[in-house]
Amino acid sequence: MRKPLIAGNWKMNNSIAESLALVERLKVLLKDSSGVEILIAPPFTALAVVRDAIRGSNIKLGAQNIFWKDSGAYTGEVSPLMIRDLGCEYVIIGHSERREYFKESDEVVNKKIGTALRNKLKAIVCVGETLKEREDNRTMQVIESQIKRGLEGISTSELRIVIAYEPVWAIGTGRNATPVQANEVHAYIRRLLSQIFSEDIASGIRILYGGSVKPSNSAELMSEKEIDGALVGGASLDADSFTQIVRSACMV
Ligand code: PEP
Repeated sequence: MRKPLIAGNWKMNNSIAESLALVERLKVLLKDSSGVEILIAPPFTALAVVRDAIRGSNIKLGAQNIFWKDSGAYTGEVSPLMIRDLGCEYVIIGHSERREYFKESDEVVNKKIGTALRNKLKAIVCVGETLKEREDNRTMQVIESQIKRGLEGISTSELRIVIAYEPVWAIGTGRNATPVQANEVHAYIRRLLSQIFSEDIASGIRILYGGSVKPSNSAELMSEKEIDGALVGGASLDADSFTQIVRSACMV
């Protein structure tokens, strides 16, 4: 049985004061939520204060990115050791915004996953097709390539991964994949994971859906068999919306 995970990706939003205000509200609203893992990924600048604020609560901490080296002359980068030091349990890797704006390839994603796992972090690995790729009927091909290249050489002994299927055309657009569309891709991802690792291992890996998840569509998405939670962008910046999404996962 896979425990649902609802993860909030705050992206490049919220000052320290705004982050604190949001997390204080979330702590109150989410304090009785059980049966679901709750994660927030604030910007790097707010990780320390949010870590202190969530101490003793049911909310976990993650970062939105890392570099693939532990330390060294890499101006402006943040290493896996640094985010572990800040109390992060998870890190998001290969988000489509990083692939698009920072030209992160599957090879870079693969190196980041490797270094995250070596440093005992849990990696949320994002994959997803663009609108053009979907319209050209290349969704499964793109997903297969991202999964296979991203996970190349990753050993089962350190496999603390979650996959997030995030169709690029659904991120921040208000247009979500239908539950059936998402479930179909999730089932395909699980088949790929079975081929790469084993059926047993694949059945334990959570596959989240991401792309315009909001209170009005989350329950329907979460009710699909292969959808094990959500990676939430915009709606995670609003405490009430994020809470409703968490509650919809508790009810499954
Ligand atoms: C995301 O950034 O991972 C995301 C899914 O964003 P949104 O929920 O805003 O579409």
